[in-house]
Amino acid sequence: MTQRSVRGYIKHLLSIYQFNVLEAEDGVEALHILKDNPSISLVLTDFNMPNMDGVELTKHIRQLYSSQDLAIIGMSTYGNNKLSAHFLKIGGSDFINKPFLEEEFFCRINQNMELLEHISELQYLARCDYLTGLYNRRYFFEQSKEYIKQKKDGKRAAVAILDIDFFKKINDTYGHDAGDLVLKKLGVILRNEFADGDVVARYGGEEFCFLLPEHSPEQALQRFENLRKQIEDQAFILSDGHSLKVTSSIGVYIGRINTVEDALNVADKGLYRAKENGRNQVVLGQ
Ligand code: GH3
Ligand code: MG
Ligand code: MG
Repeated sequence: MTQRSVRGYIKHLLSIYQFNVLEAEDGVEALHILKDNPSISLVLTDFNMPNMDGVELTKHIRQLYSSQDLAIIGMSTYGNNKLSAHFLKIGGSDFINKPFLEEEFFCRINQNMELLEHISELQYLARCDYLTGLYNRRYFFEQSKEYIKQKKDGKRAAVAILDIDFFKKINDTYGHDAGDLVLKKLGVILRNEFADGDVVARYGGEEFCFLLPEHSPEQALQRFENLRKQIEDQAFILSDGHSLKVTSSIGVYIGRINTVEDALNVADKGLYRAKENGRNQVVLGQ
C-alpha cells in the first residue's frame, strides 16, 4: 500500500468510530494542522515520512502538548523494536505494528482515548468544587500564580472576595439543603457573569474569590457592584416553592499584584469593612 492509501484506510477505520480525521502528508503539515485545531486529542503517525519523520514530529508535539492532553500513536512495519522503544521514550503514547488486525487497532485507539478521558475527569475533580461546579481555592491560587508569572510587566488586576451575608441564618431557618441550593445557584450566576479570562472560585464555605485581569479600576468596581446588585435581586426558589433572598459583601483589591495572597489580604480588609458598615456593599480594601 502507498502512504496515501494507508492513510485512506486508517481514516476509514476511524470514521467508523465517528472520529473527525484530518490528514497530513508529513510531520510539517501535521504540526500546522495541530496549531490550527487545538481540540485534536489523538495523532496517529507513521515513522517514515518525508520532511519530518514520526520521531521528530513526536518530539515537536511533546514540546506543546503533554501526554495528558494528547495521545500520539506511532505506526511502523513489524520488527522495528528499537524504533518503537525510542518512540515511547520520547513521549509516544503507544505504537501499532503494520500490518495490524482491525481489532487490535480499535483496542489501542479506545484504550488511549479512555485514558485521556479519565485524566481529564480527574483534573476536573482536582480543580473544581463539587457543589457549585466553580474552580476550587487550590486551582484559584494555581491560576493566579500562572497569571502573575506571565505578566512580567505590570501585573495589574482586580482581586476580590465575596461573602454571603448572614448565611448561617439561612441554614438555621430553612435547613442545610436550602443553603446548598443557594450556593449552587450562586455558582450558576458567577459562571454566567464572568468570562474566560477571569478566574472565579469557591474560596471555601460561603465565600468566593475572583481575579479579573485587563480591567480599569472603574470597570472592575462596576462589575462587582453589578454582581452585588444581581445577587440582591435574585429570588432563590427552594424545593418546597418557598422563595428567599440573600445579600453579599465584597472586598476588592485593584492594582499591581506581587503575590495573590497579599492582594487577597487587602481585599479581605475591604470585606471586613463592608460587613462592619452594614453588609450588602462593595468596598475597596486598603
Ligand atoms: P456574615 O454576614 O458575618 O458573613 O455572617 P454569616 O452567617 O454568613 O457567617 P458565618 O461565618 O457565621 O457563617 C457561615 C456559614 O456558612 C456557617 C456554615 O455552616 C455555612 N456553610 C459553609 N459551607 C456550607 C455549605 O457547603 N453548605 C451550607 N448549606 N452551608 C455552609
Ligand atoms: Mg464567611
Ligand atoms: Mg457570610
